[in-house]
Amino acid sequence: MTDKCVNCGTTRFPLPARNLCSRCYPLVLKKESAQEWDMSQPDTLAKCDIPTVDPVRFSELKGAYLEIIEDRLDIFRFRETFINGGADVDGITIERQLLRIAEKAGAKDAVTLTHGWKGRIDDSMDANARSCLYGMLCMVEEEMEKPWKGLHLGELFEHVRQSTELEKAQQRAEEPL
Ligand SMILES: [Zn+2]
Repeated sequence: MTDKCVNCGTTRFPLPARNLCSRCYPLVLKKESAQEWDMSQPDTLAKCDIPTVDPVRFSELKGAYLEIIEDRLDIFRFRETFINGGADVDGITIERQLLRIAEKAGAKDAVTLTHGWKGRIDDSMDANARSCLYGMLCMVEEEMEKPWKGLHLGELFEHVRQSTELEKAQQRAEEPL
């Protein structure tokens, strides 16, 4: 029997079902239910919390919904690799992490403050120390996050808007001059 979450590999949280931890399990359920949503089959929409008026909009929002959940599951997996000390971390990764924490903590000018720390980190710490420190910083960041309230429509619309813009920018980049 495994005591690790099959998605993120954590051992820090209980595993309520299917060998998934208490963070990943509800998300996986949401993802599985959303994958089934089909406007032409109303019985799949019992737990659907996006508007089902316009089919095109529906499919965009469903795509965004799934991507956001997938991203969250990825973040858990990614962070846990470091928290478990299972990955090499360089100075710039730690510098960025310190920047994010400094910003969240309300530092006046976090960018200037942390700029160039990567050199000091690389010079003064070996791989083991870097990996250990980064894991701790990930846990600090995790504690600073507000509880996730679940997906809301504003976030979905914003995600669709950003993906559309990214697509347009990529098309522009591919156009011959
Ligand atoms: Zn998990």
